[in-house]
Amino acid sequence: MSLIVQKFGGTSVGSIERIEQVAEKVAGFHANGDDIVVVVSAMSGETNRLLALASEIQDQPVAREMDVLLSTGEQVTVALLSMALNKRGVKARSYTGGQVRILTDSAHTKARIREIDDARMRRDLEDGSVLVVAGFQGVDESGNITTLGRGGSDTTAVALAAALHADECQIYTDVDGVYTTDPRVVDGARRLPRVTFEEMLEMASMGSKVLQIRAVEFAGKYNVPLRVLHSFEDGPGTLITLEVDSAMETPTISGIAFNRDEAKLTIEGVPDTPGVAYKILGPIGEANIEVDVIVQNVSHDKTVDFTFTVSRNDLAAAQSVLCRVASELSAGEVCADSKIAKVSVVGVGMRSHAGVASQMFAALAEEGINIMMITTSEIRISVIIEEKFLELAVRCLHSSFGLEREPKDESTH
Ligand code: ASP
Ligand code: MG
Repeated sequence: MSLIVQKFGGTSVGSIERIEQVAEKVAGFHANGDDIVVVVSAMSGETNRLLALASEIQDQPVAREMDVLLSTGEQVTVALLSMALNKRGVKARSYTGGQVRILTDSAHTKARIREIDDARMRRDLEDGSVLVVAGFQGVDESGNITTLGRGGSDTTAVALAAALHADECQIYTDVDGVYTTDPRVVDGARRLPRVTFEEMLEMASMGSKVLQIRAVEFAGKYNVPLRVLHSFEDGPGTLITLEVDSAMETPTISGIAFNRDEAKLTIEGVPDTPGVAYKILGPIGEANIEVDVIVQNVSHDKTVDFTFTVSRNDLAAAQSVLCRVASELSAGEVCADSKIAKVSVVGVGMRSHAGVASQMFAALAEEGINIMMITTSEIRISVIIEEKFLELAVRCLHSSFGLEREPKDESTH
């Protein structure tokens, strides 16, 4: 018998039929003797509908009131799912986030969980009930309703799993797992049986939007085994855990991540003196613009060219900040390029394998793809390339690293 936290997203509870299907599934687990805590999102489209209602009244309503509004979406689905379970003879009780006492800070619309009181949940579980908890919400110390930010139900599920020391936190969604890359780009993309928290973070932050990043961080911090599964198709999904220490089974590369949402800015002829990077990036940071890849070339004539990337949405704002900085520094021209993309190979296996970078660069060179910028971490190598080569780059890297094959084949290489 295990204790499992199961989270169903908006599309999985998007209609009464879907809710009945989820109830059927949960009832099956319960009949097996498992203790079940279910976390649900609002019905698909509901949170957006509520946001739209609010915006008809005011552009920026008081955040506290926004949370009272947005939290109602999940309150509907917990009640309906409990009814559907009761109808099947399964004892079920629904709770809002505040009722199970998911205590958060008071940062309305983006609150962080501080503490969870597991006593009430344990009583219900001992009594054989299925607990159905509203995702994405909590309560602050003064009893105000808070919400955790878009996609926050994933975080609720992981936090409950951590508080209850659950055996597994299962995230049911509309894909059957985490893939080596986007199957819409590469036909041979393969579902990964297993990835590490670290790899998942690298892949999620670069476009595989299966899980809320914060939920993955949380799961890693508390070592909660996470599994991504399809809501209505059977299959083992993808298990996300800590690194397993068996070099034999670790493929060098687990996946190819990519991001189109990039833009590049260059400021030319910057004086090569101490403090210049700060003078350029300080004002960018003050404008709340996040910088990703940074490159500064070697000095010629005591000046350098300084290049960095930002998210495409921020390009215009970053460019105007940079033009101001350029005149203050008496630097040269500012050039912007929004037709770039980032491609990364990700894998904890590269810690123990040399030559990943050269294999990557060789594969790109063979296709005539020019690399504009390079950045690396311990488990990732990313390159900035022209956007028009993105799909070609992803495909050639996927095949160069043999990702369409099962990892077993790889370990015999
Ligand atoms: N309903 C919320 C949203 O759409 C929370 C969630 O679904 O995880 O962002
Ligand atoms: Mg979601």
